[in-house]
Amino acid sequence: MAIKFAKRMDGLKGSEIRELLKLTERPEVISFAGGMPAPELFPVEEMKKISVAVLEEGGRQALQYTTTEGFAPLREKIAERMNTKNMTNITKDDILVTSGSQQGLDFAGKVFLDEGDVVLCESPSYLGALNAFKAYCPKFVDVPTDDEGMIMEELEKIIQTTDRIKMIYVIPDFQNPTGRTWPMERRKKFMEIINKYEIPVIEDNPYGELRFEGESLPSLKSLDEKGLVIFLGTFSKIFCPGYRLGWTCAAPEILSKFVFVKQGSDLQASTISQMEVSKFMDVYNLDEHVEKIKSVYVKRRDVMLKTMEEEFPEGVKFTHPEGGLFTWVEIPSHLNAKELMPKCIEKNVAYVAGGAFFPNGGRENTFRLNYSNMPEEKIVEGIKKIAEVLKEAIGE
Ligand code: PMP
Repeated sequence: MAIKFAKRMDGLKGSEIRELLKLTERPEVISFAGGMPAPELFPVEEMKKISVAVLEEGGRQALQYTTTEGFAPLREKIAERMNTKNMTNITKDDILVTSGSQQGLDFAGKVFLDEGDVVLCESPSYLGALNAFKAYCPKFVDVPTDDEGMIMEELEKIIQTTDRIKMIYVIPDFQNPTGRTWPMERRKKFMEIINKYEIPVIEDNPYGELRFEGESLPSLKSLDEKGLVIFLGTFSKIFCPGYRLGWTCAAPEILSKFVFVKQGSDLQASTISQMEVSKFMDVYNLDEHVEKIKSVYVKRRDVMLKTMEEEFPEGVKFTHPEGGLFTWVEIPSHLNAKELMPKCIEKNVAYVAGGAFFPNGGRENTFRLNYSNMPEEKIVEGIKKIAEVLKEAIGE
C-alpha cells in the first residue's frame, strides 16, 4: 500500500538531538547534550501546595476551558514582568499564552511562510526552530555570524540581493547553540536595517533572564518602533518546562493572526497549568527563584570553562557565555565532531555535534555543550573524558 503523505513531510525528520537524548538517558552517561534545566531547582514542594490551593479555590475554573489568548491574570503578570525588564507599555492585550515558546515558532511559520519563501537566520541557529519552520517548506538563507552574533553588513547585503524574504529568526541573548550575545551596537544596527526594509523579526528569548555577569541589554522588541518584532518568551528556563507555558508578544495586527492559528491548533494553553503558574507568582517571588537558578548555573559554567581551559588540547576554541545554558566548541577543521561522538559515548559522555545547527549544512568541526543539567563534579569528569578523545584525535 502506497500511503501518500503531504509534500511537507518530505523534508522532515526527527531531531538528531532528540534521537541522541535517548542514548544519553542511561544513568551512567554524563550528558552535556540536551538543553535541560537542573531538575533539583524545580519548586516541587511549592507546586504541591499551589496545585492543592488552585483546585480548592477555583477547581471548576481550573478544569474548564479558558480563552484562546490565555488566563488573563497570567497574561497581566507576563506583561508586568516584561515591563520591568527593559520593555515599556506592554499590556496583557499584547500577550498570547502558548504551549512553550516552541509553539510560537511553529505559529510564526504558519502565519508567515508560503512554500519557497525565505527565512533568514543566524548560522548556526536553534535546531528546533529550523525544524518547526521546515514544515512550511521555506528556503533558509543563513547570515554569517562572528563572536558578537549576526554580522550586520552581511545581513544588509543578503536582504538587498534575496527575493521573497518573509521573516528573520534570531536569538540575540545567550544564543542556542553558541551562548553568544549581540552587543548594543549590533542591536541598534539590526533595528535600523529592519525598519528600513520592514521585515518581520522573530526574537526568540528563552535565556535572556539568565544573565550571570555583564550589563543587561535591551531586547530587540524594546527597540522596535514599527511593530515588526515578535518576541517569544517562556517559563521553561526561568521556572520549569513541564507546564509547557510560553508566550508571544507582538503588535495587534500580527498577534491576532497568532491567536487565530492557536484556535485551530489546540484552542488554548492548559487552564490548570496557567492558573498554577499564575498562583506561584502571587505567592512566591519568581525573580528570587531566577536568582537561585543563576547562582547554580554560573558555578557550573565556571567549572566547565575552567576544566576546558586546563584539559582541552591546543587549537580547540570555545565561547565564554555571560549567561544561558550553552557553550560552543570549535575543534581543528580537519576533525569531525559527529565522528568523534561514538568514542565519547563509549566513555559515557555526550555532546551535540554542531553540523545540524547550520541550516544549510556546515561546520562539522563544532559541538555544543550544556552545563545546566550536570553537577559540578560530573562536569569536571565529563570534560576530562572529552579532552581525552580530542587529544587522541589530534594525535597528542
Ligand atoms: N527557543 C530556543 C532557542 C530554545 O533553546 C528552546 C528550548 N530549548 C525553545 C525555543 C523552546 O522552549 P519551550 O518550548 O520549552 O519554551
